[in-house]
Amino acid sequence: MIEKNGVVLVLSGPSGAGKSSLINKIADDIGDYYFSISTTTRPMREGEEEGVHYHFVSKEEFTADIENDNFLEYATVHGNYYGTSLKPVRKALSEGKLVIFDIDVQGNMAIKNRLGDITTSVFITPPTLSELKRRLDNRSTDTQEVIAGRLKMATREIQRTSEYDFIVVNDDLDVAAEVLRQVAVTARLKIPHDKINEFVQNWEDL
Ligand code: ADP
Ligand code: 5GP
Repeated sequence: MIEKNGVVLVLSGPSGAGKSSLINKIADDIGDYYFSISTTTRPMREGEEEGVHYHFVSKEEFTADIENDNFLEYATVHGNYYGTSLKPVRKALSEGKLVIFDIDVQGNMAIKNRLGDITTSVFITPPTLSELKRRLDNRSTDTQEVIAGRLKMATREIQRTSEYDFIVVNDDLDVAAEVLRQVAVTARLKIPHDKINEFVQNWEDL
């Protein structure tokens, strides 16, 4: 018998790809999960809340966290720091939860290097760059200058899609949500190497 263990689901994709919309849609259908709330130095957007969307901190606080080794991974994105705090992730994993990250391509690589055997990664994208622009325009949370920066970033990020286990093209929201739900459910079946080795050792019981 292999005991239940915590696993990781990494979601990446351009800002405006639909990551939040998709997560909200499947939240009730994927069992017990912990959504990792990142820490960032970027200013809070309208409609965002401290501790819900991010932990918003100053550059000084962030660099102190780096020095104290408090991050599982961190990166600079769009000129701001973003990081995943280690402590709550460790706790959720020890409770056997599905831990979900919304992090960029650099973060995915770092998580793959540290927790590869329990990680499933998904790159989420709208069908085209023009559709991404349309959605960012409609979302109305960013200035045209910020949107231009996000589109430029998106053309760079899409080049790294092959670093992911799955790609979800978010054209029809319901279809994309169903694909993501299936990936999330399957992600739970990942078994860490040490548990597999233990199982193999115990298997020869003659
Ligand atoms: P992200 O979390 O990746 O930044 P959001 O979930 O905020 O993206 O989605 C960006 C915008 O696109 C939102 O206004 C959302 O309502 C819209 N959106 C998301 N998915 C779709 C879709 N399949 N079709 C049309 N609009 C969508
Ligand atoms: P936004 O400013 O639109 O919320 O996020 C910008 C980018 O930062 C997105 O690609 C998002 O996935 C990424 N991001 C958010 N949190 C983290 C994190 O903790 N680590 C890393 N590496 N990227 C993050």
